[in-house]
Amino acid sequence: MILVTGGLGYLGSHTCVALQRAGLSLLVVDNLANSRIAVLERMRALGGGEVEFVQADVRDRAALDAAMRGRRIEAVMHFAGLKAVGESVARPLEYYDNNLTGTLVLLQAMAAAGVHALVFSSSATVYGEPAFLPYTEEHPLNPVSPYAVTKRGVERLLEDLAAADARFRYAALRYFNPIGAHPSGRIGEDPRGIPGNLFPYLTQVAVGRLDQLTVHGREYDTPDGTGVRDYIHVMDLADGHLAALRHLLEARGSITANLGTGRGTSVLELIAAFERVTGLRVPHAFGPRRDGDIASYYADARLAERALGWRASRGIEDMCRDAWAWQSANPSGYPD
Ligand code: NAD
Ligand code: UDP
Repeated sequence: MILVTGGLGYLGSHTCVALQRAGLSLLVVDNLANSRIAVLERMRALGGGEVEFVQADVRDRAALDAAMRGRRIEAVMHFAGLKAVGESVARPLEYYDNNLTGTLVLLQAMAAAGVHALVFSSSATVYGEPAFLPYTEEHPLNPVSPYAVTKRGVERLLEDLAAADARFRYAALRYFNPIGAHPSGRIGEDPRGIPGNLFPYLTQVAVGRLDQLTVHGREYDTPDGTGVRDYIHVMDLADGHLAALRHLLEARGSITANLGTGRGTSVLELIAAFERVTGLRVPHAFGPRRDGDIASYYADARLAERALGWRASRGIEDMCRDAWAWQSANPSGYPD
């Protein structure tokens, strides 16, 4: 059985479907801070496997001990945490507590229960301002926001733990920009409030929940002047987790790897692709740059391919089509 923390969230829920379809049974721990319980039945139906659920906070050691007791947990996938870069600047205490303390308590509970394998949700934000592109895993690390510092802090903790305990092994996966949804349109990204990220904002404009998209900056040093990112289909990301889990369960050692496609797409290219796929128009206007934004970054994705045998197979149009399947069928997101 695999313990999945934050398994009802955007990335966790899609990964839970992929894990079930690979025949794994799951124990999901989530405190519902940023997700809805309606996800659970939908991901069970899509995955067709066994998913137990415990509503608990990963900072609650007693709850984790109780959840693991009597179950044979082979490995943990740790998605639980807070993820908004801007919010982390305003609320650092919450970010350090959820992301650092949460992981520390989880690792302590794992050690006590004799569980020694962890897949961790890290982020490309650990690299900071690009010294060169694409970012390889050897790129200098310069996390800037409290959020990015918590991600790098956990990576460091995992390195130290693996050095101290030969049984412990981890995969720290540095995600680039996951977007899209399960192709069924049954599960997808459902941010609370006004979305801070480009793609959920775009799909909410398309479905009529928001009036128009603001493109932040048009004079970057990029081919069309708008920001460039490495968007990766959420189901490719889910498959990457399965590959990382196999790597750990086959005792091939710890790894820190980018999960991206290796390709950059600008804001205007993404809008154009979405319009092409859906036949809709996405009203947009140009606004000033967003504070702290980097013009362009994308992954060198070769390590994951070499070491995990995984590479992204879905393109930008797949991401647009599947996200629209979700957003159009669920214009207000999940029911309460
Ligand atoms: P999400 O908010 O949709 O999912 C996180 C889940 O964890 C939610 O269901 C939430 O209720 C739960 N959670 C939060 N704090 C918790 C706690 N203390 N105890 C128990 N449950 C808790 O976010 P997501 O997009 O699915 O991201 C998952 C992970 O991937 C996060 O760690 C995030 O930092 C990381 N990540 C995400 C992105 C992205 O673009 N989505 C990029 C890089 C890294
Ligand atoms: N962006 C935009 N309008 C928005 C949100 C984002 O133009 O409403 C741009 C942003 O400047 C960046 C890209 O879209 O160039 C991706 O931003 P997002 O917040 O989705 O991801 P991140 O910046 O965290 O990689």
